[in-house]
Amino acid sequence: MVKSIYIKLVAIILVLIVALLLVVGAFLMSGVRNFYVSAFYDQMREVFASADVAADLRAAAEGEGGAALLADILRANMGRLGVDATTRSFFVLDGETGQCLAGSNMAEGEHLTVTRNILTALAGGDGYASDPDEDFMDMALPLRGAGGSYILYVIDNKETVTRLNAELMGIVVRAIAVGLLISSLLGMLLAKTVVTPIQHLTRAAEKVAAGDFSEKVENETADEIGVLARTFNDMADQLETNIESLKNAERTRREFVANVSHELRTPVTSIRSYAETLGDAAGTLDGETERRFLEVIVSESDRLSKIVQDLLLLSRFDAGNLRFDYQQFSFEKSVRSVFDAQLLEAQRRGHDFRLEVRDDLPDIRGDRSRIEQVLINMVSNAIKYTPDGGCIRMTAGAAGDRVFCTVTDNGVGIPQEDQSRVFERFYRVDKARSRESGGTGLGLSIAYEIVERHDGRLELQSQPGKGTAITVWLPVGGPQHG
Ligand code: ADP
Repeated sequence: MVKSIYIKLVAIILVLIVALLLVVGAFLMSGVRNFYVSAFYDQMREVFASADVAADLRAAAEGEGGAALLADILRANMGRLGVDATTRSFFVLDGETGQCLAGSNMAEGEHLTVTRNILTALAGGDGYASDPDEDFMDMALPLRGAGGSYILYVIDNKETVTRLNAELMGIVVRAIAVGLLISSLLGMLLAKTVVTPIQHLTRAAEKVAAGDFSEKVENETADEIGVLARTFNDMADQLETNIESLKNAERTRREFVANVSHELRTPVTSIRSYAETLGDAAGTLDGETERRFLEVIVSESDRLSKIVQDLLLLSRFDAGNLRFDYQQFSFEKSVRSVFDAQLLEAQRRGHDFRLEVRDDLPDIRGDRSRIEQVLINMVSNAIKYTPDGGCIRMTAGAAGDRVFCTVTDNGVGIPQEDQSRVFERFYRVDKARSRESGGTGLGLSIAYEIVERHDGRLELQSQPGKGTAITVWLPVGGPQHG
C-alpha cells in the first residue's frame, strides 16, 4: 500500500511539474521569438526613417557610383542596424534586377534568395513583411535616384533567437530534472502524512475484526483522515457497546433458563415423590396422611401452573404480541376492589389493613385488569412479607396529571443491595420464605412490565426489619403510544 500510494503521488506531481514547465517553456520561447522579430522591424523602421540617414541615402542615390556610396552610408550605421559578422548583414541590390551590388558580406550577397520582401521592393513597395515560418527575417527598401534605382536590403539569420531558445530549452530540461527530485521528496512526504494514519486505521480495524476493541486511532487533525479516524473510533465504541449488551442479554437468558428449570424442577420433584409414596404405600397409610400428601400434590401443582402462567405472560410481553385493552376507568374503584379482595386474606393473617383515598381521583386511561394485577401483587407481597399481626396501608391519591397508589407495610423489608433487583425475573431476597408463601419470584417483574407499558413508574422504599413502601405512578391520560 505504501508503495502504490507513493508511486501514484510521485507520478501525479511529476506529470504536473513537467506539464507546467513545458507550457511555460513553450510560451517563453514563442515570446522570445516574437519579441526578437518585432524588435528587428522596429529597429529597421527607426533607422531608415530617421532624417539624417534618409537624407544621406537619397543624396547618394542621385550621383554616380551610388551602390558603393550607399554601402558606405549603411556601413557607417552598422551599429544602429545591428549588423554584425555572423547573424545580420546588409546589401545594396540593383533596383531592376535584384542583383547584389555591394554589402557587408559579399560572399553571402552572391547567393541571395529572392524573398517576398525583395519582390515587393522590386515592384516599388516597402518590404517590411515578416514570415514567422522562415528561418530568417529580412527587410527590403527601394530607393530611386538620378544615378539609378537600388534596393537597401537587411537580412538576419535568426541565429541569436535560435541560440536563445536552445538555451531556454536546456533550462526547461534541467528544471524538469529538478522537478523529478522535488516530486519524489514531496511524494514521500505526502505519502507519509496520508499513509501513516491509514496504517494506524488498518491496524485498529484488524484488531476490531479479531474482537479486540482496546486500540483507538490517534488522529486529532481536522482533515478527512482525522474525520475517518474519529468515525472509526465511534464505530468501534458502538460495536463494543452492542457486543457488551448482547453478551449481557445472553447471560440474562442463560440465567433465566437455568432459573426456569430449577423453579419447575422443585414442584415436579415433590409431586413425583409424594405420588410415588402414595402409590407404593397404597392401603397402608392412614386417611389423614393420605389427605396431607394429596394436599401437597395439589398445592405444588397449583404452584407449577402459576409459574407456567407467569412465564407465558412474560414471554408474550417479550414477544410484544400481548395486546393491552386501554380504556377509561375509575382508578379509585380499582383500588377499592383490590383492597376488598385482599382484606380477608390480610385479616386471616391478623394484619391491620386499611385504605386511605386522599384526593378526588380522576378516571384514568389504561388496561384495568392489568393495573389491578399490579395492585394485587403489591398488596399480596405486603401481606406475605409482613409477620402476622402487622400493619398494612393502601394510600391512593393524585398529583398533577398522575395518580398513585402506595402500599406500606411494617414487614421484613428489603436490604438496600437487593432493592434494585427485586424487579428481575425470579429474584427473591429470601427464597425459602417466598416459596413457603407460594411466591414465584415473577410477580414484581410482571408488574414492572405492565407499568412500563403504561408509561408509569414503580418506586420502592424499604428498610430491612422496618418495612416497605411500594408506589405505582400512572399517567392519567395513559401511555403516549398505545
Ligand atoms: P414473589 O413471588 O417472590 O413475591 P415478587 O416478584 O413479587 O416475587 O417479589 C420479588 C421479591 O421481592 C420477593 O421475593 C421478596 O423477597 C421481595 N419483596 C417484594 N415485596 C416485598 C415486601 N413488601 N416486603 C419485603 N420484601 C418484598
